[in-house]
Amino acid sequence: MNLQEFLNAYRAFGKAEWENVVEGANKDLSLFDETLYALAAESEKRTPVIKRALVEHHPEVARYRRRIEDFEGYPKDDMLTLSRAMRTDVMKLMELRNMAAQNLGYHDYKDLDCEQSRIHEETIKDRLQEVVETHASKAEALIEKHKMTWESWFQDLRELTAFEEALNPQDIVEKVVETFGFTKLRDVLSIHQDEQGIAGFARKFSDRDIRIAGRIIDNASDLKTFIHELSHAILYAYNTPKTLDDFLLPANDEFLANLLETVIAKKVCTQTQKWMIQKVATLEMIRMSLSGLFELDLWNKVKTPEERFVHHYERLMPIKHPEYWSLDSFRSVDPLFIQYYPLGRLAGKNMLVIIDQEGLEGTELGDWLYDHLINRATEIELASFL
Ligand SMILES: [Zn+2]
Repeated sequence: MNLQEFLNAYRAFGKAEWENVVEGANKDLSLFDETLYALAAESEKRTPVIKRALVEHHPEVARYRRRIEDFEGYPKDDMLTLSRAMRTDVMKLMELRNMAAQNLGYHDYKDLDCEQSRIHEETIKDRLQEVVETHASKAEALIEKHKMTWESWFQDLRELTAFEEALNPQDIVEKVVETFGFTKLRDVLSIHQDEQGIAGFARKFSDRDIRIAGRIIDNASDLKTFIHELSHAILYAYNTPKTLDDFLLPANDEFLANLLETVIAKKVCTQTQKWMIQKVATLEMIRMSLSGLFELDLWNKVKTPEERFVHHYERLMPIKHPEYWSLDSFRSVDPLFIQYYPLGRLAGKNMLVIIDQEGLEGTELGDWLYDHLINRATEIELASFL
């Protein structure tokens, strides 16, 4: 098996996922799971991406993941019925991921993830806890003022930061290109907008074809999401693996997208947009940190997820239905990704201090980001930014 063969299978899988999520296609992803697993199993080198594939596309892991992802065979009368029906499968999927990681010599799945991000579990927990403490009082005031609930959270974020009219995503891309000089985006990026569609999604089909899907940008929450996906697109546009050792893995991808998003929003948004984005960021930083702390707890083979869910999330407001824990995709579809969002944003804030100290602006800043982050995205030491 060579690099090109694996890369082709990897991209074909990403393309099929895009078609299902964005275009409403009904591609059978299990076929891609089989191909990727077979290629990874025959690889002599156990590089990080190969290890990841041996877990994520392991036949049993993939079977449960697809079932949960497609809500296959669960009663969908209401969220409570669905969450209760999914519980056993979500627990089983976590156990299977742990077993697949153990087959590779790790203590468990969390151990594999921490090795790949090279951030120690205790460091992650400490930073997330700090974020919670820093943002708690401001977030509580916003929740109270806008009468937010967990059930209506994302809709609330949109409503409380609504713009008078929608922004054109192409204008935002052009502003980013002009400000930072990331001219490649003009040639390789296409944008798909959908009023009711997915909040945000970025995929690399090939070096010359990178796509972003998102909603109409008529509020600061969706603007923030668009800049986030654009940050992924920048990483994809300027990074192509040269060896099997050199893939952009989920931890680096999410962490750096959040970091770049923070810097880009600061440099291209208007004062009013920044003020509204700050509101969303305060609320999202704390939600995602609580979510990250819950995930890490959960992967420590917790037998009572409902109790841990209440323990973490009640820090901010009461939990009516602890059963809802099983619905969150962060342990089935995107396992252990959530912590890299707040950590990446924390790193972005730290980076803005350095950028100001160095007096970096415009294309000089773009070149600096390219040299320090974008071009080194796969090898970079994430912990050094925290
Ligand atoms: Zn992302």
